[in-house]
Amino acid sequence: MERKFDYLVIGSGVGGLSFALKVANYGKVGLITKANLEETNTRYAQGGIAAVTYEPDSFHKHVQDTLIAGDHLCNEEVVRMVVKEGPAQIRELIDWGTNFDKVENGQYDLAREGGHSEKRILHHKDNTGAEIQRALSQRVRMHPNIELLEKHFAVDLITQHHMGSLVKRHMTNIQCFGAYVLNLETEEVLRVLSRATLIATGGAGHLYSTTTNPDIATGDGIAMVYRAKGIIENMEFVQFHPTSLYNPGESPSFLITEALRGHGGILKNQRGEAFMEKYDKRGSLAPRDIVARAIDNEMKIHGDDYVYLDATHLEAHALKSHFPNIHEKCLSLGIDITRDQIPVVPAAHYICGGVKVDLNAQTWISQLYAVGEVASTGLHGANRLASNSLIEAVVYADRAAKHAIAHAREHGFADQIPNWDDSGTTHPEEMVLITQNLKEVKQIMTNYVGIVRSDLRLERAVVRLEIIYRETEELYKKSKLSLRICQLRNLINVGYLVIKMAQARKESRGLHYNVDFPKPVD
Ligand SMILES: Cc1cc2nc3c(=O)[nH]c(=O)nc-3n(C[C@H](O)[C@H](O)[C@H](O)COP(=O)(O)OP(=O)(O)OC[C@H]3O[C@@H](n4cnc5c(N)ncnc54)[C@H](O)[C@@H]3O)c2cc1C
Repeated sequence: MERKFDYLVIGSGVGGLSFALKVANYGKVGLITKANLEETNTRYAQGGIAAVTYEPDSFHKHVQDTLIAGDHLCNEEVVRMVVKEGPAQIRELIDWGTNFDKVENGQYDLAREGGHSEKRILHHKDNTGAEIQRALSQRVRMHPNIELLEKHFAVDLITQHHMGSLVKRHMTNIQCFGAYVLNLETEEVLRVLSRATLIATGGAGHLYSTTTNPDIATGDGIAMVYRAKGIIENMEFVQFHPTSLYNPGESPSFLITEALRGHGGILKNQRGEAFMEKYDKRGSLAPRDIVARAIDNEMKIHGDDYVYLDATHLEAHALKSHFPNIHEKCLSLGIDITRDQIPVVPAAHYICGGVKVDLNAQTWISQLYAVGEVASTGLHGANRLASNSLIEAVVYADRAAKHAIAHAREHGFADQIPNWDDSGTTHPEEMVLITQNLKEVKQIMTNYVGIVRSDLRLERAVVRLEIIYRETEELYKKSKLSLRICQLRNLINVGYLVIKMAQARKESRGLHYNVDFPKPVD
């Protein structure tokens, strides 16, 4: 079956939804998402969205904080642009019905997080992402020009590589004509053709055994663009959130937002020592990479499985009203955060690299845009500053929309696109082949390509991953498409990119820490 849309949007997080709402007034939009509309990383964002709102904050300060967190590997032009254009996009989110908390005088209640020199995080209690997702999803569902295809999985981008050889020969640059999409309910593979395609598929936390990301975060967009011969960069910079709730067996790991440290929470080891001052003069509010490594080190030195986040000295009423979700979640496990310390452990959280895009969110494949966590814009450099990802997604969705609206009509729909060929394939006889390989990928990445790396560990990782890659490709060729095999294949592709880029970086920088290249002491 074939479907045609002016704009194809893959992903229903903040990036995909805000782009869809903007382009929908100019053409027909197909919005596909592999789960339901609301199951996204966006929905889980707790802390908030960073933007300059009131003095004494300034664009200059937000730019500087971003550059410092990024270990000076950010693209400064991008940082300035995102910081400057951020406030207008916040106004648009508000116009679309998003509520951010206010204080009594009617001003926004700004929070402060690690690495920020001012209070600048707009938030809705401790479930900001859910509030943004709610407001945007509601609008999308009502828009007559947006057709929502839930439980539809994008398998591969359609480029001229899928066309007949004559056509291929006459094309110089790579173009994207849409995507092959698997309807997860009927198992039918659709040819979805478009004039412009947006990838907004989010991150890849499920490369690792412990992650704050929901199940959808399997790096599909990065793998698809890589296979279509787009450019992928900066994959070595994987951010581990320093403080996820230690609760073995729970997936995704429950996040204890950085805002709790901004509010006064202090990290302590199991001996009761507030250890962060030993590692950085900013203490518990140092940037995430430093905090995650410090916790990793404390756990390794003492042989502990977790450290504590102590909020027991903070005023109980304010604590409960600012962090109702955390309070409730911990209480469900018998931890009263007003009286008990919270056991925490780092978890894979955010991938700073991804699909390389320009200032208009254009990838290196024409008619293909990427926004949100899947994209590498240059904003985060070697480490993302807390709460800078939601703002990056909306600013780039706006830029992508403007560019796509101006140019989409220049492109017709491709013809001669063949149907997906699954002749000779069957359902795998044993699912264990997939589940076991997935487990092994996560173990390899966690043990050898985690917070602290070494040349030897990276080499070992690549050798092990290659074996799993070969086995999985063989199985993939023989198998009918399924969510599980496609996601496994994508995670292997993405894991390979993380390892290769980590091996290529001959220094420790930002989130990439290799013991064979110790950081000079400053
Ligand atoms: C627990 C947690 C807390 C966070 N807190 C904050 C915070 O306070 N502030 C902040 O700025 N950032 C935060 N982040 C990061 C931020 O939430 C994400 O980076 C951001 O929401 C990503 O948005 P997105 O639009 O790129 O993608 P997502 O919101 O991840 O959405 C991805 C979408 O793509 C779909 N998809 C993926 N692959 C396919 C496929 N093959 N086919 C079809 N659909 C597909 C998914 O189903 C989903 O709809 C947090 C993240 C987590 C996990």
